[in-house]
Amino acid sequence: AWSAVPAGPPDAILGVTEAFKADKDPRKINLGVGAYRDEHGKPYVLGCVKKAEDILVAADPDKEYLPITGLPAFTKAAAKLAYGEDSAPLLNNAVSVTQSISGTGALRIGGAFLGRWYPHSKTIYLPVPSWGNHTPIFRDSGLEVKGYRYFDKKTVGLDFEGMKEDLKNAPENRSSSYMHAHTTPRELSDIIKEKKLFPFFDMAYQGFASGSTSDDAFAVRHFVSQGHRIALAQSFAKNMGLYGERVGAFSLVTTDPEERARVDSQLKIVIRPMYSNPPLHGARIASTILGRPDLYHQWETEVKHMADRIISMRHHLRDALVLLDTPGEWDHITRQIGMFSFTGLTQPQTKTLAEKAHIYMTADGRISMAGLNSANIDYFAESVSNAVKG
Ligand code: PMP
Repeated sequence: AWSAVPAGPPDAILGVTEAFKADKDPRKINLGVGAYRDEHGKPYVLGCVKKAEDILVAADPDKEYLPITGLPAFTKAAAKLAYGEDSAPLLNNAVSVTQSISGTGALRIGGAFLGRWYPHSKTIYLPVPSWGNHTPIFRDSGLEVKGYRYFDKKTVGLDFEGMKEDLKNAPENRSSSYMHAHTTPRELSDIIKEKKLFPFFDMAYQGFASGSTSDDAFAVRHFVSQGHRIALAQSFAKNMGLYGERVGAFSLVTTDPEERARVDSQLKIVIRPMYSNPPLHGARIASTILGRPDLYHQWETEVKHMADRIISMRHHLRDALVLLDTPGEWDHITRQIGMFSFTGLTQPQTKTLAEKAHIYMTADGRISMAGLNSANIDYFAESVSNAVKG
């Protein structure tokens, strides 16, 4: 039956991990996938997660199905974390929230809901470049995907002028998605309002940029305070290290509790045939952490620790590249925030790094800073320097 099915290409990000695993050299480094690694390059389970799991084991809960929209204690706490406890629509019970299968699932529910109910258009504008899975998620949700300029390869930084121009030129009433927008939201908020664009935020790294979850939620909260009725995808993969537990949330800010109830009912109708109801364990872990002051406090400390380690790697890398007289300008490494860095390395350079130095990253030169540590960063900097010198 499947003789006409052609072989597909490997996944752009997960394919990097495959190549890394097959490499036997002890110096090998995987900077492809965005998963935090500790100072010794090992996966890291947060202390607050271990404590929450101990509490859960002791409570011996059942394994019954969750409601379609997930664990109520979790969705409530997730919304509070994103929007802030003094958020007007949250206090007014006007935010429709559902648990999701991590950030990817949240984006997919959002795409499907927009495809079915957004009254004006089926087009979504994504930043270029964006996380590699954004386009397939929204395309498979039935939306037409277009791009707006976001990142300038020449300056290796945000192309704010290009971004403004493209959004200003977008037809009215289109939806647009943002990475965890730490850009200049005041001006952007005005453009989005003027153009009647619909803002869809993807907040997959809350806490990772600055070390503070509330500082990283600034753009979301600012937009909401300006009256935007946003869509929001949240992930607890990175900030709680719950990658494989698949914990996330999707929410829509609505006008009032009556509209929220109608939106809730349609979210359930979107989700039920997709996966019926979400997984239990990870949501229990996250809601235990978010709901207990002692664990919440420990979590904040642990998020800050992860963010600080990444920031210190940025400084170390920039300094090492400069010290090695690497041609080019490397300040963008410390200017960029979050888990990733667009190095500006070209595709041939990334290929050379894989073949000669056993260093793996996506072909667009994006590296996960969390894969660097004091044991491998100097080898990495030397290898990059050599690759750039050619
Ligand atoms: N959005 C962005 C920008 C991401 O980088 C990621 C993961 N790398 C996600 C969403 C979703 O990840 P997950 O489904 O694991 O939460």
